[in-house]
Amino acid sequence: MKACKNCRFIVQIEKICPKCQGELSEKFSGAIIVLDPEKSEIAKLAELNTIGSYAVKVK
Ligand SMILES: [Zn+2]
Repeated sequence: MKACKNCRFIVQIEKICPKCQGELSEKFSGAIIVLDPEKSEIAKLAELNTIGSYAVKVK
């Protein structure tokens, strides 16, 4: 898995971020899984607006 350096979206096999076309990094830690961005307080706090997994930190 890789995470986007720009928006922290985690992808499995993509080579660029499908959300923002940002660069991906294998060096990330933690994961936030957003299933319902409208109702998730974590998603709101972290400004995550799309269903998916997000890294907490990307190096
Ligand atoms: Zn991105």
